[in-house]
Amino acid sequence: MTPVIGIPQMGTDLFRKYMKSKYASSLVRAGAAVRWIELEDVDAAVAAALECDGLLLPGGADVDPCLYGQEPKPECGKPNVIRDVAEPKLLEAFLPTGKPILAICRGVQLLNVYFGGTLHQDISKIQVCKHADFLKKNKGSHTVKILPRTKLQKILGCAPILVNSLHHQAIDQLGPGLAVSAVSEDGFIEGAEVFLHPFCVGVQWHPEHMSNYVPAQQRLFNEFVAACRL
Ligand code: MN
Repeated sequence: MTPVIGIPQMGTDLFRKYMKSKYASSLVRAGAAVRWIELEDVDAAVAAALECDGLLLPGGADVDPCLYGQEPKPECGKPNVIRDVAEPKLLEAFLPTGKPILAICRGVQLLNVYFGGTLHQDISKIQVCKHADFLKKNKGSHTVKILPRTKLQKILGCAPILVNSLHHQAIDQLGPGLAVSAVSEDGFIEGAEVFLHPFCVGVQWHPEHMSNYVPAQQRLFNEFVAACRL
């Protein structure tokens, strides 16, 4: 059986199509099929997601700070209202099923907000590493330390790994129920996962842009899809 992975619709312009293709090719390499979930009708989106074997929350616009009780700062990007409304509903419906969830970039930030955490609205003035480094999205920009006794460490191993970095926001206060699984050289949370869940794993970087040639990055998708077969 081919596991079907639901992914919230990211958009259809040329740039989004390119970004979407990287998630899709990483999942197809892992043996899964992709179902893009349209979000305008939230009830229909929830129903579609529940038909899938796994859920991937992809990258995208900054989460609206009102979702974590803050006023937007000038550095905060324009929110994607449709995704900000629908994606928490998808999580609410999907989490109790225990089916696997992989959250990437905006995905892990949204997961943290869903669990009651907050975000740094802009890290450009407090970072030491370069975290918004689009030109090195295929090569990697900084390393992350993987924390022991996490699901992420079971997938990636103990050694620090080089990751790419396409973000200007980061997890600030961690939501209750989450565990930190990876930390950047300059101390930002780059991985978080749900404690009491079989496989709800989030990373701040974009493994889909390195997975075609870095086995550890592809392993994230392979283990996610393997968990969807259980
Ligand atoms: Mn980073």
